[in-house]
Amino acid sequence: MTKKRKSHYHADMLSVEEARNKILSQFQPLKKEKISLDQSLGCVIYKDIISKINVPPWDNSAMDGYAVLHKDVKNASQEKKVFLDVIEEISAGSIPKTVIKEGQSARIMTGAPVPSGADAVVPFEDTNELEEKSSESIGININVEKFENIRKKGEDISKGDKIIKIGDEISPAVIGVLASLGYSEIDVFRRPKIGILSTGNELMEPGEPVQKGKIYNSNTLSISSLSKLYGAIPVTQTHSLDTIEDLENKLSNFEEVDLIVTSAGVSKGDYDVVKDVLNKNGDMNFWSVNMRPAKPLAFGKININNRNIPLLGLPGNPVSAMIAFEKFGRYAIDKMMGKKIKHRPIIKAILQEDIHNFDGRRLYARVKVEKSTRSEIIVTPLKNQSSGVLTSMFLSNGLAICPSGTDILNKGQEIDVEMFGWNEEISEIIN
Ligand code: AMP
Ligand code: MG
Repeated sequence: MTKKRKSHYHADMLSVEEARNKILSQFQPLKKEKISLDQSLGCVIYKDIISKINVPPWDNSAMDGYAVLHKDVKNASQEKKVFLDVIEEISAGSIPKTVIKEGQSARIMTGAPVPSGADAVVPFEDTNELEEKSSESIGININVEKFENIRKKGEDISKGDKIIKIGDEISPAVIGVLASLGYSEIDVFRRPKIGILSTGNELMEPGEPVQKGKIYNSNTLSISSLSKLYGAIPVTQTHSLDTIEDLENKLSNFEEVDLIVTSAGVSKGDYDVVKDVLNKNGDMNFWSVNMRPAKPLAFGKININNRNIPLLGLPGNPVSAMIAFEKFGRYAIDKMMGKKIKHRPIIKAILQEDIHNFDGRRLYARVKVEKSTRSEIIVTPLKNQSSGVLTSMFLSNGLAICPSGTDILNKGQEIDVEMFGWNEEISEIIN
């Protein structure tokens, strides 16, 4: 059964994009920080990197073999071996001592500098090394082109190249390249600190014994984990009771953070002590956002020990809190970290069960996307879409988008799904 859409809901609602833009306008990229390269994964480069060295620093051998003059071996073949004197052995990490002249060669290992005079490397397997072992002379079975099996100096990076630019995100490959240039520290946009406070008299902390009438506080840890995943540094504390004293006391611990994130107590209509405290100490907006889950959202600035700190108030329902943080908090963190605005990848998938959208808000339904045995991308909504059912967040790998004003997405229809990660992560169904 499809319930009637209540269109009056839309009158004073902000779209997801409007709310996000209002939020993003209040953030700037943070200042520079020098950090150790091995702590920089996910950060953003603050200053262009101009290489001071060549990579590789010298011509070096791409194979284990013999460094030769290519003209010496131009007529060599299996039948007509060319014999050369071996005047040196060069291992990786050592420096050649001799110059290779006509009729001479050097035994060389992969990565070792090619000695002067030599202009090609013949791999071991194209010599008689295994049959007639001799350290003084080597028989060459093939001819090689000039520079064959030689990796040229600066082939990867040349001195003076602008190799990594401000705004580039630091991936494992970027870390590898920076290490290859000799960096052990790097200037990045500072990672933001996110103060996280869950509120509610009904909460108890994980690790505490079960108490009647209480539920475990899951939002603090799910939101702090998302913060880490997005590259920020979470600063958490135990939940606050719904009292002015406890709320103000807990918030006062956040004077050092770049963003405060609270959960619960921000619904527009209801009386709530959280709203009172935020209003009294700051300049807050309480919005209804045209999305489901996570309609109620608070955003503004709050004064803590004379610092005005942005505050994002998430709804209390565990799924709503996570989705609202993904839709708004992540963008704020990205902007502070100097990242470009990045949306999640949206893919097309064939819907396996109807999705009903009861009140016409934009619905983000938790779904499981898979590749069928016929190699089609299929999408199945999780049975229970309640915003209190937190298991739906780990059983799903994406959010199906039902546009605002659309009452139903039909089974068999191709729909848009916003993936939590990249498409490669879609697993195949194997019979
Ligand atoms: P509220 O936003 O206060 O109306 O809360 C909505 C629902 O989310 C209620 O069922 C709360 O008990 C639940 N809830 C609020 N905060 C948390 C939290 N930190 N962890 C788990 N559930 C919560
Ligand atoms: Mg509450």
